Amino acid sequence: MGTLTEETPFWERPLGTLDDAEWEALCDGCGQCCLIKLEDADTGAIYDTDVACTLLDVCTARCSDYSNRKAKVPDCQQMTRENAGTLPWLPATCAYRLRAEGKPLPEWHYLVCGDREAVVRAGISVAGRVISEDEVDAIEDHVCIEGFDAIRVDDGDGDGA
Ligand code: SF4
Ligand code: SF4
Repeated sequence: MGTLTEETPFWERPLGTLDDAEWEALCDGCGQCCLIKLEDADTGAIYDTDVACTLLDVCTARCSDYSNRKAKVPDCQQMTRENAGTLPWLPATCAYRLRAEGKPLPEWHYLVCGDREAVVRAGISVAGRVISEDEVDAIEDHVCIEGFDAIRVDDGDGDGA
């Protein structure tokens, strides 16, 4: 990403140099990390589902009680500068994962394009596309074998995959 200067925007700097506000601002708000995953007890394989955590507003893809989330959902995963690059279930598009891997943010990220709705138009946000766990009887029936990745990232070759 070239040489770092004082003008380098924070989203191009190493994660370890970000202050707390910059860290929080890095999130694109896609909501993908708030979908429930199922783990195969025999193989350890992790499967995505289209079922969202009880606190996720499925219309906006935002946590409805972010400041109290740990009290209400104890297994909500806290993202840190240390673990951002070590969580295999994070989507490939997650800003924390991308930056932990030294990759740039995508053009649809609001910090890059200035438009918070671009994440929706790019098909990355789960807003309006998932169901709350409160509405689901058997999460096993909601496994997405191809994962959420398979239905959204346009790699530019025109096939929408
Ligand atoms: S997957 Fe990453 S970028 Fe998307 S909401 Fe979760 S933390 Fe934010
Ligand atoms: S508690 Fe909030 S941030 Fe944590 S997984 Fe649920 S909706 Fe997402």
